Amino acid sequence: MNDTILQVEHLTKYFDAQENLIVRSRGNVKAVDDISFSVKKGSIFALVGESGCGKSTTARLILKLIEPTAGKVTFDGKDVFALPPSELQKMRRDIQMIFQDPYSSLNPRWRIGRILTEPLDTHKIGTPAQRREKAIELLKVVGLNEESCQKYPHEFSGGQRQRIGIARALITNPKFVICDEPISALDVSIQAQIINLLKKLQVQFDLTYLFITHDLRVVRFLCDTVGVMYLGKLVETGPTDAIFSDPRHPYTQALFSAIPVPDPDNEKEEILLEGDVPSPIDPPSGCHFHTRCPYAKEICSQQEPPLQTVDGEHKCACHLLSGMNVAPKTP
Ligand code: SF4
Repeated sequence: MNDTILQVEHLTKYFDAQENLIVRSRGNVKAVDDISFSVKKGSIFALVGESGCGKSTTARLILKLIEPTAGKVTFDGKDVFALPPSELQKMRRDIQMIFQDPYSSLNPRWRIGRILTEPLDTHKIGTPAQRREKAIELLKVVGLNEESCQKYPHEFSGGQRQRIGIARALITNPKFVICDEPISALDVSIQAQIINLLKKLQVQFDLTYLFITHDLRVVRFLCDTVGVMYLGKLVETGPTDAIFSDPRHPYTQALFSAIPVPDPDNEKEEILLEGDVPSPIDPPSGCHFHTRCPYAKEICSQQEPPLQTVDGEHKCACHLLSGMNVAPKTP
């Protein structure tokens, strides 16, 4: 049985730098650069990495909100980029998104009832009465009451607004939800509540999540599989347990070494990377990470390392795996 719901193959997106007014020079911004991964039905796949590494662009490509430069995305057996507009519209019922900022993602001039029923109006699902009933049902599912329908977004706290964002994402009964940094704009005290709610809803509605985040503690708690991105490339991927217990890419090791450990006896040394993330316009040759990597050798700036199998589904793109004569240190 094929249990893959999403397959991403050689996905690539280059933006024209001048067109987007990012810089006054010629060239392409290599936002997503030939990445491949798959997500199993009913699982949670985390995409992690620093800001600007291509995580959110990947999400927008999957939904075909922007045109890809190259590559293929298959969702539930269908080639997303080859779908006619009417089929693409239907597919967007099945893939919904929860946004980072609950303040700007809700229309401030609309009451919550209208915000929640709008996706049902767009997709012509149910009668007006059924849409309102569904909105009330979803509000209760996310821990809010029926009276919320009459209120405006500014009458709610940040955590409550994110609950409304979650209710809106679930109202079309999607199979797949892209959670784009869903807790990073919230107070720390609220973050755990939203994470627990997302976990509960994933089980209750048999959902699959693509979880975009830079919070590795959340990844460890919530996610089954991890993909680590650096400068538009997928540099390491595999089951969460394997990646956390044996991170192989020097960038993954550096990211994980910064996770705080609540144990005064565990004096884990943080790996500090030198320099800033290079510009995605003309990124470094060979391995994009070679300008910051503590183990870089000549070959690293000359040849791009392929994504190779470490063990089972654990894969890593680093010349160290091909026997380059340097051993990565364990964080
Ligand atoms: Fe570092 Fe070279 Fe591995 Fe890139 S390929 S991560 S530069 S050791």
